[in-house]
Amino acid sequence: MKNKKIDRLIWFKGNIIPVENAQINVLSPTSQFGANVFEGLRAYWNTSKGQLYVFRLPEHVGRLQNSIKMLEFEATFTNTFLQQSVIDIIQANNFQEDLVCRQTVFLDGFGSWSATSPVEMFIAPMAKGRYYEDTEGLDVCISSWERINEKSLSPKIKMGANYMNSRMGQLEATRNGYDSAIFLNQEGTVSEGPGSCVFLVKSGVLITPPLTASILDSITRSTIIDIARNDLGLEVLIRDVKKDELYVADEVFMSGTAVEIVPVFSVDKIQVGMGVKGKITAKVESLYFKIVRGDVEKYKNWLTPVYIR
Ligand code: PMP
Repeated sequence: MKNKKIDRLIWFKGNIIPVENAQINVLSPTSQFGANVFEGLRAYWNTSKGQLYVFRLPEHVGRLQNSIKMLEFEATFTNTFLQQSVIDIIQANNFQEDLVCRQTVFLDGFGSWSATSPVEMFIAPMAKGRYYEDTEGLDVCISSWERINEKSLSPKIKMGANYMNSRMGQLEATRNGYDSAIFLNQEGTVSEGPGSCVFLVKSGVLITPPLTASILDSITRSTIIDIARNDLGLEVLIRDVKKDELYVADEVFMSGTAVEIVPVFSVDKIQVGMGVKGKITAKVESLYFKIVRGDVEKYKNWLTPVYIR
């Protein structure tokens, strides 16, 4: 990868430049200690409308501001600026396809882990279809690693350092032949995946752990809860989930901006339901993809069009 030229533009410290020219100080707090907060966004291309839609941009920016606040970064970015900068860099790349976008606010300069400035930002969009391209559903394990919790490192802060917990869980899972992992929290109840939330279906009811289960305040999760209740007429329970409920669930799926909605076929090698994508998972997934692509009028307010038409 070292010498590979990437023909892509990045938003970096207020300028739009080729990605290979975006460089930081190796002694910066972001480089040394993971002192950064970020968002992972997605935008979807609608061919018939000739438009690219960023999904729930204000919500992502709102969560980024909360992360900045909780880590006490001296950032003065306005919501409008944070949103417009995302639009600007996607436009600059002239993307006409689905993409993921990383928006990262970081501590630059030469400082310690307790520095609060200088605060800088980069925004890097990248063309991306499905996250799991070759897999219809996941075989996951219950991680032997516990999810970080509010007593030590808040899972509500979407910061780089938190992903070292995700890393441990993912590497262990992969090493043991699984696609991904589900963490339990300090109470021993189901928390989330390394980069996604967890839903299960039992007797037609959709169930997901609460925000107090050491999970990220996921935008996909709240989208699914809303559409399941309001459009699919499903009962949704937000409550603590024990791991053995996953083994005997009718359906399990993981959800997140990057992974979107992906069925879980087995947990700890125990087959979930029929070991195929379940009916309710399919319904949620189908509506989700219509919404994000701009084909559901009612939810157009969740979309920010990138191009001026
Ligand atoms: N949990 C974790 C740990 C994540 O990294 C993500 C991905 N951002 C999620 C849940 C899902 O959050 P969202 O739906 O906002 O992408």
